[in-house]
Amino acid sequence: MVYTGFMSPEQPSPSEPQLVGGFACLDFCNTLSGWGGPGPRERAGDPAALAAWCAHAFGETPWIDREEWSRLIRLRAALHAVFDAIAVQAEPPAEAAFLLQQEVAEAAARRRLTVTAAGGAWQDPPPVDGSAVRHRLAMDALDLLLRGEPARLKRCAGHDCAWLFYDRSKNASRRWCLMADCGTTDKVRRFRQRQRSGA
Ligand SMILES: [Zn+2]
Repeated sequence: MVYTGFMSPEQPSPSEPQLVGGFACLDFCNTLSGWGGPGPRERAGDPAALAAWCAHAFGETPWIDREEWSRLIRLRAALHAVFDAIAVQAEPPAEAAFLLQQEVAEAAARRRLTVTAAGGAWQDPPPVDGSAVRHRLAMDALDLLLRGEPARLKRCAGHDCAWLFYDRSKNASRRWCLMADCGTTDKVRRFRQRQRSGA
């Protein structure tokens, strides 16, 4: 699955990283699960792991050095702080918003405006290296902030998950990153709890 802007999440095959956020910037946050929980799980722990995620998300394997990897991980922390706060109707931390503003400004400077007889269009550089990936994620976050509905930005209700996603369901009733994963686990957990309290 490759991101092409505003789109619906799809069910991935079991071997692929799960892209369920509906926005690349949210799925980038989801490369770390269980934010702030007892056992976070990291899927972008080094440049190679992050490049593999990019290959899946953008259809291109970028060259990412150690320094760019650190900057991407800093951006991920800021994106998570901003969108996780919005998901629970809290004010995003000022430092995170400021870092995002700097990244968006840098990314905007790298965009090209092409003007033809058909009109104008922005062109982002292809995500072939760490900085281009960072810029793409920053512009994706800007797109979500400007065009998304805050009430549709959600944090998975699954126990120790905390994945973020943009809820496109008709009545904005989606609660889980993946019904087959967190939804089912939670149903089983609540069933067992009811059994225990009934015994
Ligand atoms: Zn979940």
